[in-house]
Amino acid sequence: AAPDLEDIVRLCKQRGFVFPSAEIYGGFRSTYDYGPLGVLMLRNVKQAWWRSMVQLRHDVVGLDAAVLSSPRIWEASGHLANFTDPLVDCRNCKERWRADHLEPGDDGVVHCPNCGSTDLTEARAFNMMFKTHVGPVEEEGSEAYLRPETAQGHFVNFLNVLQSSRKRPPFGIAQIGKSFRNEITPGNFVFRTREFEQMELEFFVPPAEADRWFEYWCHERLEWYVDLGIPRDLLRLRHHDKEELSHYSSGTADVEFRFPWGWGELEGIANRSDYDLRAHSEASGTRLEYFEQASGERYTPWVIEPAAGATRTMMAFLIAAWDSDEVGGESRSLLRLHPRIAPYQVAVLPLSRKETLVPVAHEVLGLLQPLVMCDYDETQSIGRRYRRQDEIGTPLCVTVDFDSLEDRGVTIRDRDTTEQVRVPIDALVTEITSRLAR
Ligand code: ATP
Repeated sequence: AAPDLEDIVRLCKQRGFVFPSAEIYGGFRSTYDYGPLGVLMLRNVKQAWWRSMVQLRHDVVGLDAAVLSSPRIWEASGHLANFTDPLVDCRNCKERWRADHLEPGDDGVVHCPNCGSTDLTEARAFNMMFKTHVGPVEEEGSEAYLRPETAQGHFVNFLNVLQSSRKRPPFGIAQIGKSFRNEITPGNFVFRTREFEQMELEFFVPPAEADRWFEYWCHERLEWYVDLGIPRDLLRLRHHDKEELSHYSSGTADVEFRFPWGWGELEGIANRSDYDLRAHSEASGTRLEYFEQASGERYTPWVIEPAAGATRTMMAFLIAAWDSDEVGGESRSLLRLHPRIAPYQVAVLPLSRKETLVPVAHEVLGLLQPLVMCDYDETQSIGRRYRRQDEIGTPLCVTVDFDSLEDRGVTIRDRDTTEQVRVPIDALVTEITSRLAR
């Protein structure tokens, strides 16, 4: 069953995935804090991306560049001039809107979504970068920007990475981190926020291979979401028209997800040509090129960029996993999260808090904790504890009962099927590992 946005917001708050920031002060402008489960899940999303993009490849290396960045970077990249959204003001209620998010009403005229007025200003370009000052005095020359994307860090470090890693095109640089955009209308929970996390790969290729690699990454990236359990019918790849392309792009496709309000972008895959490396070469005077020793050829690589949002993707995983069914005549809510994405992989549950059971439960916990993230819960009835784990998406529960004291066995219960099997404690690690590795 498809959830509403409110269902997701409620689950996130109640179970500790995502809280409104500064809630005790009435909240703060669409900012959010990630709670005990959210921090685990968000990490898992990022880790799954890193595993697929860096760990399981030989042609991608990592980077973690500074968030505070020089205006010279953004001048050269074109962001100071072009990273804008069209802004309109409502003259009546003074609300501000992104012009391209407003649609005409039945009367064919655009209305203010807040007060309904049609008295709107012309659209003007609004730069979305957050500007700040470095040092104790706010003077000219002390400006810095919070990066609006993690990319550019990749480009300005191109030579550093090339020389230190001994990679050669085709190769990529991967980076995960926070980005900041002064969005005019943030909203739809964590779909659009001013502070968010991105997972970006810049893949440098010989110019003649750019089209092939663009196709390759479109395919790879779509399959990543499918492999991690998002049903294919909730995903699509949408190619941009010429008019829609960003200032740097000569071809873009978006991986889109069917959110409760409609299709929305999870990730943009762009062919950035040699735009960025050339722009930074010209502006800095440092030639950001690749010199092929064997052929004596020198060229500026083209760049294919799959750029995904970690926070937005986490929300998509929650929505896709949302489900309910009936067990023993009772309805239950569950999150069918992939084991690699779920906050906890295993919950260890002693049947009761009796002193005899707790040491065995702790022993089991000690066996599993080095391998996976475990929850531990010894209060309430076992049925309720199973339901609670279902609701937060824990794939496996391990129950320690009074028989465990006799047979040194425990029960593994599967979230999706609710099936239970008895396993000797000695075989538990092997059994859990193989059940989670899917
Ligand atoms: P949109 O059209 O939704 O504003 P975009 O095309 O500007 O997104 P990109 O610049 O391609 O986005 O950024 C890559 C990814 O970063 C997006 O696909 C999205 O997942 C994420 N992202 C971008 N802006 C935000 C935001 N304000 N809040 C959360 N995630 C974002």
